[in-house]
Amino acid sequence: MNVLEIKNVCKKYSNNSKKVNTTALKNINLTLRNNEFIGIMGTSGSGKTTLLNVASGIDSCDEGEINILDNNISEMDRNELSLFRRSNIGMVFQDFNLLNSLSVKENIMVPLLLDKKYELLEEGIVNKLANMMDISGILDRYPYEISGGQQQRAAICRAIINNPKIIFADEPTGNLDSRSSKKVLSYFELLHNEYNANILMVTHDPFSASYCDKVVFLQDGSIINEIRKQGDKVKF
Ligand code: ADP
Ligand code: ADP
Repeated sequence: MNVLEIKNVCKKYSNNSKKVNTTALKNINLTLRNNEFIGIMGTSGSGKTTLLNVASGIDSCDEGEINILDNNISEMDRNELSLFRRSNIGMVFQDFNLLNSLSVKENIMVPLLLDKKYELLEEGIVNKLANMMDISGILDRYPYEISGGQQQRAAICRAIINNPKIIFADEPTGNLDSRSSKKVLSYFELLHNEYNANILMVTHDPFSASYCDKVVFLQDGSIINEIRKQGDKVKF
């Protein structure tokens, strides 16, 4: 089954003050199959973040369509899309996006509170995920009291607590040193291999991309190449 289908997608940004249009995506076609981990690489400005934002419904496209689990999200209205995103999509960002006014535990719980899934809190799901991500000792701390690697692992717990069908990650190791990056990537690998997670990850780092099953390369808004895993890693 295809989890995500990006079909003939085009996206322009208009900058009215300068009367310039930037074509950020040109006729993109990409499919994420069940249990696939795909990386998107390319130089700065090639369209990686735009592609992730359009694919995850954060932003709309001008042409083409995005199907997630056979639902065309391009046709959903705001409320439908918001509900759909909350139950099917987990997001991980470069700068973690944790709320500094909440503890790590509270940050991880946010999606459950929004969806009133109190029964999962009673089952101790936060503790289970925190154990898995090796952050159970810091649940009562605040984001500014822990390392970047720990913040990102907390953000991953928050992203997966609703058991999403797809995890979208935008440069998840972009603010981490190589040791913390390795740790975060090893958790993506665990989610992918043991829990069949479907992941679309933007990165400009070949080491991070080597964890993917397949890496597509963007240039000037077009996919110009793709490399598949040989053995247990993608080799450049
Ligand atoms: P990447 O993630 O590969 O660095 P982006 O998707 O951020 O690339 O950007 C692709 C192109 O779209 C670039 O030329 C960028 O300047 C332009 N762009 C991105 N976001 C906006 C925006 N909000 N308004 C206008 N142009 C944008
Ligand atoms: P990780 O590899 O998980 O990112 P680190 O080795 O960077 O962890 O951090 C080791 C310890 O130092 C952690 O227990 C963390 O709480 C603490 N630490 C690291 N960075 C910070 C920071 N900016 N503020 C407070 N504590 C920190």
